[in-house]
Amino acid sequence: MNDEVLLEATNVRKWFGGVRAVDGCSVQVRAGHVTGLIGPNGAGKSTMVSLLAGSLKPDSGTITLLGKDVTTAPTWKRARRGLIRTFQVSRELGHMTVLDNLMVTVTPQPGETLFSAFFRGREWHRQELQMLERAYMLLERFGLAKMADEYASTLSGGQKRLLELARAVMPEPKILLLDEPVAGVNPSLVRDLAGHIERLRDEGMTIVMVEHELAIVERLCDPIIVMAQGTVLDQGTMASLRENEAVVSAYLAG
Ligand code: ADP
Ligand code: MG
Repeated sequence: MNDEVLLEATNVRKWFGGVRAVDGCSVQVRAGHVTGLIGPNGAGKSTMVSLLAGSLKPDSGTITLLGKDVTTAPTWKRARRGLIRTFQVSRELGHMTVLDNLMVTVTPQPGETLFSAFFRGREWHRQELQMLERAYMLLERFGLAKMADEYASTLSGGQKRLLELARAVMPEPKILLLDEPVAGVNPSLVRDLAGHIERLRDEGMTIVMVEHELAIVERLCDPIIVMAQGTVLDQGTMASLRENEAVVSAYLAG
């Protein structure tokens, strides 16, 4: 782990009318770390994730990904550079099989026509087989292999969370943005999901994670960034945050 900053937001602002969702925040995401994003509801965490991912453009400020300014780059360009996000509410494709949910994350990029794919011939076929192999490996790893041919809509809430994580990992991202990855699942699955995220971290994945369950945040995240009312209140380890009275009264005591 070299602690290099892979993703950085500098003084970003995003207002919705009069709502100052993100009001001048700076965030650094370092290689190999799980950076936690905590704070009360409405603090601006999801908005921050959308700004980092590119589904929202900041009113002002800059975002740098792997040393390149991506402030106005769309999500798919950031995804090509290795930045993949998940959502607070699962967005699996219910009308597709579990396997296809993984395969569509690695289908030909914009600009690649059927024509060019056809003339790539054998090479294309070989790549597709590799992707299938990777998809099955991930379904196995996330405990979904038995469901490979089921429609994703038939999965339980917890399985949809696992699928969402597998989908995010499928294209071999450099950085994962996870918005409340264990929201709404039962306690045993929370442990399961946390274990998967921990394993990704231990394999060297760089992760940004919005999470409410402080036990999970404490176990997985360092540093932890505390947001409140669109600003960054403090950041550091959970132990250091507990020393900060403003943080405790804004969130930790809550
Ligand atoms: P968090 O994820 O920390 O709960 P959000 O980033 O979702 O907070 O929201 C921050 C504030 O911005 C909230 O007051 C929310 O209502 C508002 N907000 C978020 N998205 C939108 C939107 N698309 N349009 C208008 N207001 C929004
Ligand atoms: Mg949110």
